[in-house]
Amino acid sequence: MKILVTGGAGFIGSEYVRALLGGRLDDGADASLQVTVYDKLTYSGNLANLAPVADDPRYSFVRGDINNAELLDLVLPGHDAIVHFAAESHVDRSIAGASDFVTTNVLGTQTLLDAARRNGITRFLHVSTDEVYGSIDEGSWTEQWPLAPNSPYSAAKAGSDLLVLSAHRTHQLDAVVTRCSNNYGHYHFPEKMIPRFITNLMDGKHVPLFGDGGNVRDWLHVSDHVRGIHLALTKGRAGEVYNIGGGTEMSNKELTERLLEACGADWGSVDNVEDRKGHDRRYSLDITKISRELGYAPQVEFRDGLAQTVQWYRENRAWWEPLKAKAAL
Ligand code: NAD
Repeated sequence: MKILVTGGAGFIGSEYVRALLGGRLDDGADASLQVTVYDKLTYSGNLANLAPVADDPRYSFVRGDINNAELLDLVLPGHDAIVHFAAESHVDRSIAGASDFVTTNVLGTQTLLDAARRNGITRFLHVSTDEVYGSIDEGSWTEQWPLAPNSPYSAAKAGSDLLVLSAHRTHQLDAVVTRCSNNYGHYHFPEKMIPRFITNLMDGKHVPLFGDGGNVRDWLHVSDHVRGIHLALTKGRAGEVYNIGGGTEMSNKELTERLLEACGADWGSVDNVEDRKGHDRRYSLDITKISRELGYAPQVEFRDGLAQTVQWYRENRAWWEPLKAKAAL
């Protein structure tokens, strides 16, 4: 299979590429496997994330925007599948200014869908988020839940989900959508909570905790997420949505406690800052469908995953220091 991975230089996309070429997703069973990363290299795209596969003859990289239909028509022929990660992905940035989110997440996804159909792509996997469901006080969202996004980021992701599903209904594109919870792990851009807290605390700096810290998130190790994505790509039913969760719900306050402990710091390093506008209170995914249909189960215990992540940031200062300096974090 020849797969084009959009956004493959980002946090999750690069894990997918490293795992796929490393034989961790299909035991290296696909002898015809080839991977093209198609990425604009925005502030969060980083070729260093792909250094471990840079010399693999099955890998190639194209710098391009998913809004560039002409370039897509040059690159796509010969590919069987698209795994679509490319997006503007940071909620706080979408609150500061939403237009890039609409341009990439909505318009870019439609441009990619049109290019997929023109170029005879036989499978399209769209990576989305649990944030499209909004916020839930009790219980968990199944895939049938109505979409009620609250931030410009999640609204733009919801728009892209609906466009992908409509391409299936209207044009019979063989498409699947996955919606995951909050990812964590290595190569995570240090503007996001876990890597930002780890790297700040390692340097003896303070960390900002939104509001009362009572917002609850489900944490999913990035290696579990990409396994779920590959299962959905290879075995999921066309036109279906699959939730992918990690089974570890906790409040931001509890997460902060664990991060302080892991980094040898205390609450004196925490600044309580004004809550994010429109901050969703709780996310919770029901993952029965992907578990029953595709045999997915998260494998990484949060305790282990967090310890490995802290260790990785300790050992890879050369990766994150320039990113923090450039983004003035
Ligand atoms: P990321 O910001 O680390 O990576 C995004 C990548 O997309 C970058 O490499 C960037 O250069 C590229 N990109 C951005 N705009 C582009 C464009 N117009 N054309 C081509 N490439 C472009 O994001 P991530 O955390 O790896 O997220 C990947 C996907 O997973 C996104 O679709 C996001 O919505 C979704 N998701 C992420 C999380 C999470 O916890 N990180 C949770 C749920 C869903």
